[in-house]
This record gives sequence, C-alpha cells and structure tokens, in this order.
Amino acid sequence: PVVTRFAPSPTGALHIGGARTALFNWLYARGRGGKFLLRIEDTDRARSTPENAQAILDGLTWLGLDWDGDPVSQFDSAARHAQVAHDLLAAGKAYKCFSTQDEIEAFREQAREQKTSTLFRSPWRDVPAADHPDLPFVIRIKAAREGTTTLHDEVQGDVTWSNDQLDDMILLRSDGSPVYMLAVVVDDHDMGVTHVIRGDDHLANAFRQNLIYDAMGWPKPVLAHIPLIYGPDGKKLSKRHGATGAAEYQALGYPAAGMRNYLARLGWSHGDAEFFSDAQARDWFDLHGIGKSPARFDTAKLEHLCGQHIAVADDAALLHELQGYLAATGAAPLGDAQKDGLLRGMYCLKERAKTFPELVEKAHFILTSRPIVPDEKSAAQLTDVSRGILSELTPQLQNASWTRDTLESIVATIAQAHDTKLGKLAGPLRTALAGRSVSPSVFDMMLVLGQSETIGRLSDASK
Ligand code: GLU
Repeated sequence: PVVTRFAPSPTGALHIGGARTALFNWLYARGRGGKFLLRIEDTDRARSTPENAQAILDGLTWLGLDWDGDPVSQFDSAARHAQVAHDLLAAGKAYKCFSTQDEIEAFREQAREQKTSTLFRSPWRDVPAADHPDLPFVIRIKAAREGTTTLHDEVQGDVTWSNDQLDDMILLRSDGSPVYMLAVVVDDHDMGVTHVIRGDDHLANAFRQNLIYDAMGWPKPVLAHIPLIYGPDGKKLSKRHGATGAAEYQALGYPAAGMRNYLARLGWSHGDAEFFSDAQARDWFDLHGIGKSPARFDTAKLEHLCGQHIAVADDAALLHELQGYLAATGAAPLGDAQKDGLLRGMYCLKERAKTFPELVEKAHFILTSRPIVPDEKSAAQLTDVSRGILSELTPQLQNASWTRDTLESIVATIAQAHDTKLGKLAGPLRTALAGRSVSPSVFDMMLVLGQSETIGRLSDASK
C-alpha cells in the first residue's frame, strides 16, 4: 500500500510551494487507496512555533487536503532518533568523533592552503571503539569515500554523485540531540512511507539520507523531487511576485477547488487537460506527469480555472464555502433570508465570477435590503424621465405572472412605448433593484427577489 507524507517545518505559514507538495502527495495516495500522513518537522526549536503549525493545518484544511491519523511531531521522537544513532554506533556503521571545533577549523584551514577538499575527515573514523568518558563527542556516520552513488528519482531520472562529495555526516550532536537528516529517515521508515514527494531543493539531502538507509539496511522509499515554483519572470517565487501564502489566496477569495486544480497543473500535466475535477485529478495523477523544469505561477490562469470551478459548483456547497470566506474576512454571519436569497440566486451569481469577492459584489442586491442606497455611479441613472418610466412599470408588474417571459415582455412593451431601447431601461432598473452597476441581469434579479420585493424597490426608486 502507498504511504505518502507531507513534512512541513513550522517556521512559517503554508506557502504555495508547500501546498503544491502536499497536494501531490495527497493526490498520489488518494488515487491509490493509500495513506497521506502529516509530520510537523519541529526539531528547529528556535524557529518552530505552534502557531505556524496550526496555520499549516488550517491551510491544508482550507484546501481540502485531509490527512490520515494525527499529525506527528518530529521533535517528540527525538529519543528514538538518538537510539538509531547509537544502534549504528554499536553496529560499527558509525563512530564517536572527539575532534574539537578548533581541530576541525585547523583541518579546513590546512585544506584551503593545500587546495584539497575542505570536507572534514575525522581521525577517529579508524580508531576502533575509541572512548574518552570525559570528552564530548558527536556520532558520525561512516560514509563511503570512493566510488559513486546513483539514486533513481521518478522526476529527475538517475542522479549520480561522487562519494567524495559527502563527509561523515554528524548523526548525533555532542549534546545528544539527533540531527534533522537522521530524524527524517527514521520517521519516514517508522511511518512506513513508501513515496517521498518533495521539492527538489531536498535532492542533495537524499544522498545524505541514503547513507542512513544503507547503514540501517532499511528499504528505501521511491523518490520524486519536484521542481520549485517560479514567478512569471522566471525567478524563484517570492513576495515580490505578490501573494505566496495559502492563507493569502484564501483571503483573496479563490475557491479551494480552483486552487487545487491550478496547483495540480503547476508542474504536472495529463495530456492537454486544464480544467478537471478532484476525482479526475486523483485518477490521473502520477509521478511521470511531473515535468523537470520549474513551473511558472500565472494568476490569470488560476483565476480562469477558479471561474470554471465556481460555475459548475453545487449551489449549496458554494454557499457553504462563501460563508467560510466571509467568516475569514471578519464579515458578519449571513441571516437566513440572505442565505435563502443566495441559494435562489446562485445560478446567476456564479456565472462569470472568478472569486468570492466578485460573487459578493454581484450578490449585493441580495445581501442589501430596502431602502436601496445607490452608489454614485448608479445613482446617475435615476433621472426624472427614468423615474417616470419606473412608476409606469410598477402597476403592470402588480398583475404579472412572475416568469421571465412575462417580465421581459412587460419591460419591452414599456420601452417601446417610450421609444427607447431595452438597454436604456436596464440602467435605471438595475439602480432601483441593486443600487450598483455590477449585478446579474435585471430579469434574474426580479426573479430572485420575487414580486413584492421587486415592486417595493421600484416604487422606492420612482419616488
Ligand atoms: N521539512 C522540510 C521542508 O519543509 C521537508 C523535508 C522532506 O520533505 O523530507 O522543506
């Protein structure tokens, strides 16, 4: 069975790159009936905070990336990680190194002068069972010095490193704390991780981690190091390019389904499919579809996909997500009448809205109530002439059957009688009903508002 994991360091919030890594792991596991685990890599005690960890969980929750079991804290397993270092020591795969910082510095200094490798070569490696009970020591792994190591990566292909590029990495510091590289391998092994999908900034680490797998004789996970995300200018994505945090995208009102679709396409492809559902993404996602070159973040494409997802979303689900968005912006909760109105109007609100703010703007006629106070631009539509027309319209609507056909023909007849185009009448009607120049069509608004509310707003405006 497939087991993937997302292993964020809680030194900051969830950013777009992390969200995409999580999504790839989630898709891979979910598409194969596997498990998707979450590990908080909080061994950097100075920079890790519970608030950041929570923000990461919140970001994943917003994106709908559910994980199996409880999130694991890496720091909690420190004793286990240290035990593995001692196991390797006992097995002769690691050794105690008593070299002091000064000695290491002197080694490097000499290497620089002699223009040889500055990678530290500990003199303790070949002193069997050296022990100095009173001296501080670190535990180092015995790394191969000759030859090469080739790792197969599902994205990068075969990657070969010369072994003399690696030193005898420290496993356990002199204060007894395990290093991060050891913690990752032990955790991945203990959690039964079968596939490691992560940013290619960790490719070099894979060679160090490989030393530990070899020394322990543990089965190795499949590796997939994915290229980082770049900005539109081809430089590594950063604040300069705009929003980079998942929470920022949530606050900007992008729907999670659109975000998932877009992030899935960021570096992965399936033929020429652009717009797809979660179910399709789960069915299609595989490691071979991940490209080798960095993906470029493209906000216009994100928005386009978001618009498509809003358009096809289930109305009740969309209302639910909209409420989440409003709550996140600190807006007052919706009343029942507003919710009913939104459900009735969702069919026309979701046309051409790419984000929740756009949807809310179109929904103003539902969210507001009488008396409608038009904004400046739409107020200009109400002239003596247009007010006169509105007051002629009102009694006719009183007796109308409330269907689109009837409403359209009543308004068309009035327009004809005044020798004016239907479009000319739409402005004042829109002002009366919504008080805004952005709204659904006047007939949609009439249908959503219903007869008495429509007539009320028109007579307010014609006064
Ligand atoms: N904690 C690492 C990071 O946030 C990920 C390590 C891994 O996936 O192995 O970049």
